Amino acid sequence: MTTSFAALGLSPALLQGIEDLGFEEPSPIQTLAVPALLAGRDAVGQAQTGTGKTAAFGLPLLERMGPERRTQGIVLCPTRELAIQVAEELGRLAVHRKDLRVLPVYGGQSIERQFRALAQGPQVIVGTPGRIIDHLHRGTLHLEETAVAVLDEADEMLDMGFREDIEEILEKTPENCQRVLFSATMPPAIRALADRFLRDPEVLAVPHRTQTAPAIEQVYYEVRQHQKGEALCRLLDAQNFRKALVFCSTKRGVDDVTLQLQRRGYQADGLHGNLSQGQRDRVMGRFREEGLDVLVATDVAARGIDVDDVDAVINYDIPHDVESYVHRIGRTGRAGREGRAFTFVTAREHFRLRDIMRCTKASISRHQLPTLHDLHHLRTAKVMDEVLETLAAGPQERWIALVEEFLGTHFPEGRIASRDVAAALLKLLVRRDFGGQDIDPGHDPLAEAPRRAPRAEERRESGSDTARRPPRRHSDTPMTRIRISVGRAHSVKPGMLVGAIAGECGIPGGLVGAIDIAPRFSVVEVASSVAEEVLAILNAGVFVCGTKITAEPWLAAPPPRKPHAPGARRRPSSASPQRPGRSGGRRASGAQGL
Ligand code: ADP
Ligand code: MG
Repeated sequence: MTTSFAALGLSPALLQGIEDLGFEEPSPIQTLAVPALLAGRDAVGQAQTGTGKTAAFGLPLLERMGPERRTQGIVLCPTRELAIQVAEELGRLAVHRKDLRVLPVYGGQSIERQFRALAQGPQVIVGTPGRIIDHLHRGTLHLEETAVAVLDEADEMLDMGFREDIEEILEKTPENCQRVLFSATMPPAIRALADRFLRDPEVLAVPHRTQTAPAIEQVYYEVRQHQKGEALCRLLDAQNFRKALVFCSTKRGVDDVTLQLQRRGYQADGLHGNLSQGQRDRVMGRFREEGLDVLVATDVAARGIDVDDVDAVINYDIPHDVESYVHRIGRTGRAGREGRAFTFVTAREHFRLRDIMRCTKASISRHQLPTLHDLHHLRTAKVMDEVLETLAAGPQERWIALVEEFLGTHFPEGRIASRDVAAALLKLLVRRDFGGQDIDPGHDPLAEAPRRAPRAEERRESGSDTARRPPRRHSDTPMTRIRISVGRAHSVKPGMLVGAIAGECGIPGGLVGAIDIAPRFSVVEVASSVAEEVLAILNAGVFVCGTKITAEPWLAAPPPRKPHAPGARRRPSSASPQRPGRSGGRRASGAQGL
């Protein structure tokens, strides 16, 4: 089922970069794409978001770059955020290729700065079509020596009206340039583009196979990335597993999580490919012999694990593919024992959960993480049970004598209730039992839920027949308009946009103002004070209506209220925001990603 990165034919420098990033093994699309692209073929790739496409096209692209300081590779991305993201990942992969430079080029950045950066002859340019065209026209960028051209998220770029720009750019690349197109979907326009510019392309597609998941209880929790550590501790505390296996997607993740658990007093250790055989055997030995409660591992390291009595598998990071999920959870519920699987899912990973459910036909139910209140009750209940057991075991003369002596010394007039003494002992016991951690149920770091439920007053607002939400509470707050790449065609509702912004960005829904929904996109007002943050987060991989959205400042005049009113926008030229036909409101339920 698996290959190593080394087996894909990559050079030591890039393998070292992969190692530094902590990728342990190639994802399915990488296994497929890297050898094909290294062989120089043109290719059309189709894989879902989050499957590692950047490295899939990036590694072979970097491999083909020579030391000469001129443009040899070009990657086109739909938005500047994606361009920056891709350039960063390529830069990290190529960190040991000291001779290589990767430059992101996008609109909004000072063009003079770009002139200077381009003049230094970076080998790889990652940019948005508009700005690249701009440089081609100014003569500050030359594509005559391009060896590899990649269209990333090609369907998105076409949706955004970049078709002509893309064609013009590809026409400027030489005949023998390797051309690669990645797209989540393959509408006719993409096929036409491929037919016109790609020569006998290899089709890279990861098949979706039906997988049979073991019949064990499967649960998922919605968490934000930064809450995962706390969520894991919460789960471990509440469930009291004897042996839990925690999966992370990278070696670095394993190290981080292990350290975090150890610091918080858990009997935990980690396993990954970088450990020597001796170290690995020692860790496994302890896990088998009950010396460890929690074992943290990567998929690769876990393959060698033969322990029958794991009572829980926790997917700290949701796996990249369905097969791994099935493999992972198959480590529990063995030999007729009960087992359970728990998966942490961030909003941007929902589509993976959906894939897993679809391909395995398993029902994975959403649960709420225990609150600190729950945990506090669980802990005290556990101690109380033990007290009852101890009482039931018979007279405790030796201990009674100690208590009487204590009371006689400190409270000679008998001025203390047995209740108070018992409460003090209980408090001490609960604390000691749980590694000195005290719970303050009033301050719960997980309480800022990833997606809060709408408040009653907000639900009541939902009766209106227009999607325009007047900015009620913050009418004198300066607002910034943001264009979001989903519209009526995606069945988006105002509540979903509010949910995405409030939930993902953690800003109060009140800072979201008017919402206009056009056929192919929407324009949303947010308080200017948070606009930059909202843009960054929305572009980091947020899903609305099952579509990964992009967001950018909407610089045109206020959205016209009447259909076909003149808009000042360059592209897409056909779309102007219109009043929606459907009722809208602020229900954040059924929000993005599901
Ligand atoms: P896509 O372009 O398919 O949406 P990305 O290339 O952005 O996906 O990758 C998604 C995430 O997975 C990134 O954080 C990336 O660093 C990480 N990643 C990519 N390949 C691997 C791998 N082989 N092992 C672990 N993580 C990986
Ligand atoms: Mg990508």
